[in-house]
Amino acid sequence: MFQYTDLREKLSEYLTQEQVEQITQAYLMAEQAHQHQKRFSGEPYITHPIEVARILAHMHLDYQSIMAALLHDTIEDTSLDKLEIKQQFGDKIAELVDGVSKLTNIHFDSKEEAQAENFRKMMLAMTQDIRVIIIKLADRLHNMRTLSSLPPSKRQRISLETLDIYAPIAHRLGMNNFKVEFEDLGFMYLYPLRYRVLKEWVRKSRGNRKTLVSTVEKAIQEALAQTGMSHCIVRGREKYLYSLYKKMRKKRGSLSDILDIYGFRIIVPEEGDCYRALGLVHNLYRPVSGRFKDYIAIPKANGYQSLHTSLHGPFGVPIEVQIRTKSMEQIAENGIAAHWNYKDKGLIEEVISDSVGHLRTGEWLQGLLDIQENTGDSLEFIKNIKIDLYPEAVYVFTPTGKILSLPQGATPVDFAYLVHTDIGNHCIACKINRKLSPLSTRLESGQIVEIITSSCAQPNPAWLSFALTGKTRSNIRHWLKTQQRSESRVLGKRLVDTVLTSYGQLEGVLDQVPPEKIKQILSDLKIESLEALYEEIGLGKRLSPLVAQVILKVLEDNVESEQDTGPLYIKGTEGLIVTYADCCYPIPGDLILGHLIEGQGITVHNEQCIKVSQCRKHPLNCINVQWADNIEGEFQVPIEIEVVNERGVLGILANAFAEMNADIVNVGVDERDGAHNMLKFIISVKDRAHLAKILKRFRSISTVGKIIRGKTAF
Ligand code: MN
Repeated sequence: MFQYTDLREKLSEYLTQEQVEQITQAYLMAEQAHQHQKRFSGEPYITHPIEVARILAHMHLDYQSIMAALLHDTIEDTSLDKLEIKQQFGDKIAELVDGVSKLTNIHFDSKEEAQAENFRKMMLAMTQDIRVIIIKLADRLHNMRTLSSLPPSKRQRISLETLDIYAPIAHRLGMNNFKVEFEDLGFMYLYPLRYRVLKEWVRKSRGNRKTLVSTVEKAIQEALAQTGMSHCIVRGREKYLYSLYKKMRKKRGSLSDILDIYGFRIIVPEEGDCYRALGLVHNLYRPVSGRFKDYIAIPKANGYQSLHTSLHGPFGVPIEVQIRTKSMEQIAENGIAAHWNYKDKGLIEEVISDSVGHLRTGEWLQGLLDIQENTGDSLEFIKNIKIDLYPEAVYVFTPTGKILSLPQGATPVDFAYLVHTDIGNHCIACKINRKLSPLSTRLESGQIVEIITSSCAQPNPAWLSFALTGKTRSNIRHWLKTQQRSESRVLGKRLVDTVLTSYGQLEGVLDQVPPEKIKQILSDLKIESLEALYEEIGLGKRLSPLVAQVILKVLEDNVESEQDTGPLYIKGTEGLIVTYADCCYPIPGDLILGHLIEGQGITVHNEQCIKVSQCRKHPLNCINVQWADNIEGEFQVPIEIEVVNERGVLGILANAFAEMNADIVNVGVDERDGAHNMLKFIISVKDRAHLAKILKRFRSISTVGKIIRGKTAF
């Protein structure tokens, strides 16, 4: 309680009675909540929030920040929750405490610089109110100050994180005091030996420097006083250890080279005085050319303002001088936090709250704007700071701790596609902070996102209604298009297959057709690939019966190439494609040869035919054919019969043909002499056996003399 009484006194210096009373209520609640908790050092836990609040009180932060600082660990470490804080102290305090808890909950352990940068952005993106960051920085500062009570391994981890994350954020917000302390403490715990050596060097060299520093201080002070600027403060400035260490590493210079630079700071009452003081010191010592910088006219991005110059000091010693006003000094040390001291609401506030939407940031920006007034494009300036402070992105963790940045409003589907297209295409569900969540959830910074995939999962067209990034949307569209294509291909193939099988082709015949035939089919159909053909059929751009016609034509020509693969079996049902030569009239049972005639199909010859030798001169047109086992139909064959020339003989023969189930197709008479006639018939028979039976039967007829199978027609 004594510790708090002390803080309370400090608060009363700049806050109203009423505000301090509210802070006391917050303290009592925190004290109660942490009642039985102890820090590593053994002290009661409440000492920590009180010290965090004290750091902020030192910078004169507003009463809400102080209340939130006192309560900052309650949601995380005690049974209190956000709702209870809200009921007791209202929305604003609950939001602040909750914001700090969220930052406490995210952990950073990557060593990559790019990831550290993302982590810093993540912290800023998670923060709706910049005071959350300031409280968090104060929390970290007190933890660093009390780090010695933690075990060494923890010290190392926390120090590294402080150097990687917290010091740069403090720098970004212009909070130089925080930055310097973060870096010196981090340096001390991370590299204890280097820290001690460097510290000893600085301590030793300080003795030698003292005289020169006081000489210069005095000279500048006197020069200022002579022109009536006696209210100015001049002081020698020591570089802090970590910045010396960084300089040594960067320049690879010796320690004495770096320590031999003497720094001075001149604090003047008004901005105009800065330039007057500059003229004086330039008059006093010769300036080093090219080293003058006017950060008053053009402030640094974090709001820092000063005039910087380098001089050739007494005995040629290099001197660096910073000149600034008291308020510039405040901003240089406390950055954004300094602006709670300078709350003068101006015209510009409307513009700021419109464009930024964060009142607290607005006030800070207003401060920057006041500074910025003379430099022209202030809106551009605001925009830059806004982008830097509140990136329009969300930063989320992968399950392995990598940080990915996505645009504001992105969903787990966008996350999945950002990781890998395959992950996106196969994602079925997601876990956000280890809880199953809808894929349409809008992601928030600091969340851990895990995508659950399945090898048979497919993108859902419904994702297009919530997926945000261009990459995701184009990936989904591409997949859907490909999918529609492959489905239409399957359908198209089935359609054309059905037609082909109805024409007697085997199922899937196109899969077995040799490449050159495919090529021909494609060129006949004027299309580049079978896939494309199936696709067009599937999509209804071509009619499958028409396509099948073209394919069949080519397939039937295919007979040609099957010469080597085995005989073509003649079934007798081939129709117009197969004809039987009328020079030899082959019938089943005869040895035969196929002869291909362009535009007509195959003509089947009897092996004995006199034309066969002619055909064989063009082996490419000769096709190995054989009679199939179960032949249907009848085949024409000529028969020559020598008969005794007497009445009624034709009738007898006709009866005999009928008796033998052989139709007469044609008949001719070749007169020989008066007594005998030669009759030529073309009859239709089943096969050689059938013909043999017929011949045998005719030989038994008395009027029939000689009877032979003829070779040609008449
Ligand atoms: Mn804490």
